[in-house]
Amino acid sequence: MSKKSNCKYIFVVGGVISGVGKGITASSLGLILKNRGLEVTAIKIDPYINIDAGTMNPTEHGEVFVLDDGDETDQDMGNYERFLDINLTRVNYMTTGRVYSRVIEKERNLEYKGKCVEVVPHIPLEVIHRIKEAGKKANADVVIIEIGGTVGEYQNMLFLEAARMMKIEFPKDVIFVMVSYLPTPSKIGEMKTKPTQNAVRTLNASGVQPDFLIARGGTMLDQKRKEKISMFCNILPDRVISAPDVDSIYDIPLNFEKEKLSDKLCGILGTFCKKPDDGVWSKWKNFAKHAHNSKEVVNIGMIGKYFETGDYILSDSYLSVIEAIKYSAYMQNRKAKITWLNATDFENDPSKLKELKKFDGIIVPGGFGSRGIEGIISSIKFVRENKIPYFGLCYGMQLLVIEYARNVLGLKDANTREVNPNSKNLVIDVMESQKELLKNNLYGGSMRLGEYKAILRDNTIARKAYDKKEILERHRHRYEVNPAFVKDLEVKGLVFSGYSPDGHLMEIAELPKNKHPFFLGTQFHPEFLARPLSPHPLFTAFIKSCINNKKK
Ligand code: GLN
Repeated sequence: MSKKSNCKYIFVVGGVISGVGKGITASSLGLILKNRGLEVTAIKIDPYINIDAGTMNPTEHGEVFVLDDGDETDQDMGNYERFLDINLTRVNYMTTGRVYSRVIEKERNLEYKGKCVEVVPHIPLEVIHRIKEAGKKANADVVIIEIGGTVGEYQNMLFLEAARMMKIEFPKDVIFVMVSYLPTPSKIGEMKTKPTQNAVRTLNASGVQPDFLIARGGTMLDQKRKEKISMFCNILPDRVISAPDVDSIYDIPLNFEKEKLSDKLCGILGTFCKKPDDGVWSKWKNFAKHAHNSKEVVNIGMIGKYFETGDYILSDSYLSVIEAIKYSAYMQNRKAKITWLNATDFENDPSKLKELKKFDGIIVPGGFGSRGIEGIISSIKFVRENKIPYFGLCYGMQLLVIEYARNVLGLKDANTREVNPNSKNLVIDVMESQKELLKNNLYGGSMRLGEYKAILRDNTIARKAYDKKEILERHRHRYEVNPAFVKDLEVKGLVFSGYSPDGHLMEIAELPKNKHPFFLGTQFHPEFLARPLSPHPLFTAFIKSCINNKKK
């Protein structure tokens, strides 16, 4: 095999405002380069002190995305995995907290050999070390590094400093892409470039000059504004790329290639690129087309509690679940319409339960704590009795078991220790090992996290959907089905169709098909493994039963 050329590094930074698609841009850049035969990996840098995203409320920070190795990360990691169809590990994720604690640990170990350890350069040097390691681990030709936040924030300065230092070390191998926003104020009716000009100047003040500008906005950037940005931001006009709002994020790589972006990137980086790989590309195009052409709707109700932020609805908390639903729906030529149902509404007004009949299927995603729980349990009872397809993810599985224990086994006070530790029938409880952790307040990174194996029982919905005997799925939970109740639940008809290899932990609960078209919950989070080109088998089985439910 010929020797690989130097690894290339593409930094993606945000200008003007956050939330305009930096993560999707980074993912799309990765995909168009992968499509040119390059080995690509991606890193997300989150500039907060938290060691990981696991201790944050999803309404603060969006979904916590879990990796195979159990790292609790930012939702953008999910975008990278989905677009690039790769599995990332903790080397691909960095926070300020993580970098500082490593530097402090090294200082305590005398690894700085008596030097005064300073914020600059030691923090950026640690950042650079981590970026290089991630590249090496993936044997990557290109590492895409997304720096969280926007330029000018105090928080990400040390990461920009690391990027600047890398450019000095590898002048030919590092490029910068700024994703900026161009507002069109309604009363002015014209797209304004000034905030972007200022953002580029702010970045310049950190010693960084963007090579490309991705111009996000409501509409296409016209020639005049392209020239203005080029002139005032010091970027060649053909490197100012228009990125207007789109209906489907999966069009973005295709739009980038309309502007020949992979050619331009490879041109500057001096990378040898193959012709576009027809295999990956045509599959992606086909998938993106489905997102537009699937017209018939499948109506999914999602009962959750991490939607509201102030007066706004934030669906980001369940991003992977939403994408997983979409992939399986597109595969059936359907468009998924997802309606957010607030769990507490069903508690305040039980007559609302009837409204669940409007949906082809109901999902209860993961969650924590007691708020809204009784509303969810009543909803599960309703969909079980009315044979509406139900898919419970993690907490959604635990609550399914509680509902069954209460209403079929007659254990009226059945509960989880998380909600009511005084219940006599803790059908969901903690493992012994967790009790010690909780006693000592050791919450961070201490749940059952990441990939674990499960064995599937023959002749079940799960076994049929996966079409294999053993599976690996990602977990994020502290509580478990209490083994003391498993026999009784089984006698009353609940089937544990997936369990840990030692038989102690229940991984999937379901009702047989002759009792209910689809009533299934997983202790793991299948949504983390759903990919555009390979939808998750359980989501597909659920969507199929929703479609059948609709036909009736
Ligand atoms: N709160 C539950 C537990 O900790 C479920 C977690 C989840 O849904 N991710 O076990």
